[in-house]
Amino acid sequence: MMLPTNSPISLKELPSEIQMRGMGISPGIAIGTTVRIDDRGHKAELIHIKESQIEREVRRLKRSVAVARRQLKLLKERMERELGKDHAYILDAHILMLQDQALFKSVEQTISQQLVNAEWAIKLELDRFLAAYASISDGYLRQRGSDIEDVAHRLIDALSGRRKADRSKLRAHSIVVADELPPSVLAELDIEHLIGLATHAGGWASHTAIIAKSLRIPAVIGLEHRPEQLSTGCQAIIDGTEGLIILNPSEPTLQHYKSLCEHRRKSFSSLIEQSHIPAKTSDGEEIKLRANIELLSELDAVQRFGAQGIGLFRSEYIFTNMLPQACSEEGQTELYTRLSEVAEDYGVAIRTFDLSQDRLPLTRKAVEENPAMGLRGIRLALKAEDMFRTQIRAILKASKRRNIRITLPLISCLSELRQARRLINDTIKELLDEGLDIDSKISVGIMIEVPSAVIMIDHLIKEVDFISIGTNDLVQYLMAADRTNKDISYLYQPLHPAVLRSLARIAETAISIGKPVEVCGEMAANPIYAAVLIGLGFTRLSMTPAAIPIIKDAVRSIEISAVKEIVKKAKDFYTIREIEEFLVEELGSRFSSFYTGINWRYVN
Ligand code: PEP
Ligand code: MG
Repeated sequence: MMLPTNSPISLKELPSEIQMRGMGISPGIAIGTTVRIDDRGHKAELIHIKESQIEREVRRLKRSVAVARRQLKLLKERMERELGKDHAYILDAHILMLQDQALFKSVEQTISQQLVNAEWAIKLELDRFLAAYASISDGYLRQRGSDIEDVAHRLIDALSGRRKADRSKLRAHSIVVADELPPSVLAELDIEHLIGLATHAGGWASHTAIIAKSLRIPAVIGLEHRPEQLSTGCQAIIDGTEGLIILNPSEPTLQHYKSLCEHRRKSFSSLIEQSHIPAKTSDGEEIKLRANIELLSELDAVQRFGAQGIGLFRSEYIFTNMLPQACSEEGQTELYTRLSEVAEDYGVAIRTFDLSQDRLPLTRKAVEENPAMGLRGIRLALKAEDMFRTQIRAILKASKRRNIRITLPLISCLSELRQARRLINDTIKELLDEGLDIDSKISVGIMIEVPSAVIMIDHLIKEVDFISIGTNDLVQYLMAADRTNKDISYLYQPLHPAVLRSLARIAETAISIGKPVEVCGEMAANPIYAAVLIGLGFTRLSMTPAAIPIIKDAVRSIEISAVKEIVKKAKDFYTIREIEEFLVEELGSRFSSFYTGINWRYVN
């Protein structure tokens, strides 16, 4: 049964199968047993103190900071061992918060001025922060509010001397369900036995989402119900592709998922065996498949899944998640050099930071009404010129192997492109004057993500070396449908006729002028959409690394002339439904390895 939204859930009252929907942010199926994590036991009680007790409370506060810091350092070491350095930086940010003198001055002042205990003073400070963060519309920044909450709760626990439950040992096949899963709690978990995650809170940019994707743990977040009354020990299935958690599955459901799991496991391992062979259609056209990544820890997946280089490195994660030294020119040069080494001759396209204003380190104050349409991507880079120049210098300094390309995000008009190119050319000159060995002819391309860039493609394309289509944003802006908003997901349709016509226009222009064009939105990670893209004329696709074996298999089964014919006909339909039905029928009946149903739903 599906539950009506917002109804409370009690397994005692509802012993039959329950399905809850959420956002599938890490695909795959997990069948296991729930472990409920309730991390909200940090009750701070108000105790009025006398003036003579102020000093004692301040001492308690300082001691709790020292305890929390020690705990976080130990956790960080464990996280580095088990998840790698890329994820452990999250805890560095928490450790840094504990060193924030201004923050603790303010808590001390609350203790002495309001004559309250340290726990209560921390709670008041936290409430102030959360009230400010709650009014922010950008999901990413709100997420930083939960980091502060995470640290404050650790302090309150340290003050009360409360011992936290030991989660470092989970039973085999554990599926963790929680209202929310802050990164420091995630870091405590026994990753070896964790097979799935489901939480009520969290969005696509949350650390939980990033870590789950990178570890390839099936995960559903943003559950429509709070799993408040879910207990530990229920049998559960996570379908991270469909965005579903099934509790107390009936025997037929369980059997269905077991066989689906087995089928996918077998077919996926045989697909991986083939994934190092280039993908050619049955009539001999090679389709190049590259990887989209955001963390260095994903580099092994680039190799394992047979990617032909990196089509998109989302560099903004360096700035939002890492420590200041990683953002410095030297730090970035080191990182880009590593990317260039792994990418070998296939190459890597480094996208310059695609941040919105409120995600900028240090100056996170200006909050926009509508950040998706605000000062982000190239618009922000051209304003934050020092930061942009530093990044361009670092990319160029790492370009000795001549296999790096620069991709500029969210270009809306020619003047932005020209301004960015001027800055790149000036930087090339500067570095040559410094006598450095750099790629002075580095390829510079743009992301096509905005309708105005589609309309102006014939002009833009003349001034770039390549085009990269960001369908995740292009669909969002063409349809005016926020890609993270579940309520309007019916509008977020990569097969909408307007999207198909836009893609066709870009492909035709690029082919006629002979410039390389690549699709790097996650649309390419779905076999049916990938076939559509190939039918439109695209021969380079970039996607999440784990999807590459599946797409290579789909590519091998299609015949390019037939797919072109099918897509041409599909473009004549006016509604998404007609297009979908037509494609599923035509592709499914003509080509053997169409994984219709698997990965079919587009999940971002
Ligand atoms: C896109 O918009 O399709 C894209 C690849 O960029 P991102 O998902 O990082 O916005
Ligand atoms: Mg984008």
